[in-house]
Amino acid sequence: MSRPILPGATIGVLGSGQLGRMLALAARPMGYRVHVLSPGTDTPTGQTADVEVDADYLDLDAVRAFARQVDVVTFEFENVPAACAEAAAELAPVRPAHRVLYVAQNRLREKTFLAGAGFPVAPFEAVRSLDELRAALGRIGTPAVLKTAGWGYDGKGQARIDAPEGAEAAWHEVSTDEAVLEGFVDFEREVSVVAARGLDGTFAHWGVIANDHQNHILDLSVAPAPVPPEVATEAVRLARGILEELDVVGVLCTEMFLTRDGRLLVNELAPRPHNSGHLTVDAAVTSQFEQQARAVCGLPLGDTTLLRPAAMANLLGDLWHRGGDEGEEGANAKLIEPDWQAALAFPDVKLHLYGKAAPRVGRKMGHLTVLAETPDQAAQTALAARRALIGGCAGRHSSQEASQDSKGIRDRVR
Ligand code: AMP
Repeated sequence: MSRPILPGATIGVLGSGQLGRMLALAARPMGYRVHVLSPGTDTPTGQTADVEVDADYLDLDAVRAFARQVDVVTFEFENVPAACAEAAAELAPVRPAHRVLYVAQNRLREKTFLAGAGFPVAPFEAVRSLDELRAALGRIGTPAVLKTAGWGYDGKGQARIDAPEGAEAAWHEVSTDEAVLEGFVDFEREVSVVAARGLDGTFAHWGVIANDHQNHILDLSVAPAPVPPEVATEAVRLARGILEELDVVGVLCTEMFLTRDGRLLVNELAPRPHNSGHLTVDAAVTSQFEQQARAVCGLPLGDTTLLRPAAMANLLGDLWHRGGDEGEEGANAKLIEPDWQAALAFPDVKLHLYGKAAPRVGRKMGHLTVLAETPDQAAQTALAARRALIGGCAGRHSSQEASQDSKGIRDRVR
């Protein structure tokens, strides 16, 4: 087995968003240096890394030069081109290995892998033309969801089809030459299991997290998820099986639907720390980011115990767009800074901002985390604090006051 990469060594990160930023914020206190490569400067990761390289992922000479300077390469988003990961692998270990990236960056490959290995998924078919879509709709039925096979995230490249006549519009909407048609799942709840696997095959997880999406973008995560113990056990068993089957070294998130009749269907894999695991930064003995550093460096995995129930509410760029017409962007947008003091007047709220200059609608700018006595209380406080950012409720609050404020949104937490 490879020798561990010890503190003092350098971790190279491909991709420069908030995931790399929080990885650097976890790895540097342990004594690691962090280099990041992406097209751009002053990126969320670059701001917290030791070295920021501004290069295209397909500038393979730059990628090789980058890999020569580091002891291990990992990535913080799965759409790094295969050629980039392969060039890096000539000079440094890439963890997780390229195969994991290859499977997870294309929905068709991902679903085919999952179904082939016996993991439960919604019915799906590959679709490469409008005629194929019509035929697949005949077999899968409606409602269904058409998704581009590649480059899809946060609901981008997706169209719901409610009746066969909707096929043509959906095909044009996703505008691709390779798509997946999936049966629409009438789920009770969405859950995820963020888990890690070490170089020696050890497995660690943070239990089941409940996720609430708005417009296909994660809005609120709550841990532990309010699911029956047998569902939690099964969700972790599926996640473990997936990490083992893919021989993952690092962190991987398995997103699942819990159907109304209590079955779990795997929706998506993210071979890296995941938005639903952000609450582990404040709420767990070891965060998903520290765990990623430990795993890719071949160190023992850390304790994943949750200190208290927790919730995480995402802060999207929409929070800044309150001046003009709703959602207005560009030159006409009147951006109003959220009222940070009002959110921080909740003494148990932790604010995380990602250092992004342009608060575009739908862009993940940061998140709030709250620890509380119960998952529900944590969720209510996180949502009340987020409302306070846009003038929802001002002044100093206790968790209890917040929980009274937010009874109306309790249903959203589910
Ligand atoms: P995805 O990009 O596949 O993670 O999808 C984003 C979100 O769209 C999911 O978290 C669900 O809320 C919703 N969604 C995706 N696929 C389906 C499906 N087959 N049935 C029901 N909802 C879905």
